[in-house]
Amino acid sequence: MNPSHVFDPDLHEAGSTAAHGQCSYHAPGGEGNGTCTGEAVVSFQDREGRWQSGCPLALEQLVEQGEIEPLGQGG
Ligand SMILES: [Zn+2]
Repeated sequence: MNPSHVFDPDLHEAGSTAAHGQCSYHAPGGEGNGTCTGEAVVSFQDREGRWQSGCPLALEQLVEQGEIEPLGQGG
């Protein structure tokens, strides 16, 4: 399980979906399904160690799947 952080655009690659404050989890080419217009609320590292951003729905799904820790409970 990966730690989660309150969304911080500085963690993400400049010019990326996440750096623009949008959810990269549901973005085309991301790991999630479907489209999403949600604003990113969480920054987390995926299984390959890449920084991703997630909207509230993504956060919920990822915590449910045991992929990341709930916000505020990381070290
Ligand atoms: Zn999303």
